[in-house]
Amino acid sequence: MTHLLILGGTTEANALAKTVAELGIPATYSYAGRVGNPRPQPLPVRVGGFGGVAGLAAYLRDHTVTHVIDATHPFAAQMSANAVAACHQSGVPLAALTRPAWVEKDGDHWQHVPDIDGAVAALSGAPQRVFLAVGRMHLQEFATQPQHRYLLRLVDEPGTLPLPNCDVVVSRGPFTLADDQALMQRHEIQLVVSKNAGGLGARAKLDAARALGLPVLMIDRPALPQRVELSSVAQVLDWLAHSGVNLGV
Ligand code: NAP
Repeated sequence: MTHLLILGGTTEANALAKTVAELGIPATYSYAGRVGNPRPQPLPVRVGGFGGVAGLAAYLRDHTVTHVIDATHPFAAQMSANAVAACHQSGVPLAALTRPAWVEKDGDHWQHVPDIDGAVAALSGAPQRVFLAVGRMHLQEFATQPQHRYLLRLVDEPGTLPLPNCDVVVSRGPFTLADDQALMQRHEIQLVVSKNAGGLGARAKLDAARALGLPVLMIDRPALPQRVELSSVAQVLDWLAHSGVNLGV
């Protein structure tokens, strides 16, 4: 009997969950448990880490998972590497549902850095008003550059923040160009720091930066082990059908 495990926490995973539920394919949606108010899903949900590769392999076995779809964020490199290793060990087919990286267009002024540390290093220098759009998990690293005034956009109301000088907007995407442009103007932003997440939901800040002529510090994606990569729900359904899943359509 088919049992999909969807590693989630993204717009792509949510879209997949909706389709899978509509088709009546047995599946479980997995959240890391990072946010306080995760979106409800039309599938059974489990929350929290598995306990590394061994924990995930045990989960696959104990819950007779037949297919894993890694629809995590392109920067969730640890989870994705664990999924490749655990599925390989367990002989469970794995595909990633991911989105192409953003590409610089005419009018963009991007400085590429390889990772968070690179972004922190690039921020040494005179104080600026910085839209730090990297999520909550990595704010601590930026505490070594406390001279800037940071604008943070977070999914949950934060507790104590490691940055002395910041404004916080609590909001969940997708965002629009008009709203992001207005937000950046209101906060007199001079620099945007972004992960190269790809996709539409978080793209607006880059379009707004281009419209306002602002530079972007672009954190490139982490390297991931080789795996089957798909870029749409339709492709996932094709892959499942080719892997022997009866989609009933
Ligand atoms: P990560 O660094 O790759 O993962 C760290 C650990 O968190 C994993 O080893 C795993 O713990 C657990 N984990 C991560 N995703 C999980 C999931 N979907 N289900 C169960 N456990 C999970 O991941 P991250 O960058 O912190 O991202 C965490 C979650 O937030 C992911 O679901 C991702 O899709 C979502 N997200 C991340 C970003 C981002 O910028 N990184 C942005 C938007 C959404 P164990 O080793 O114990 O299994």
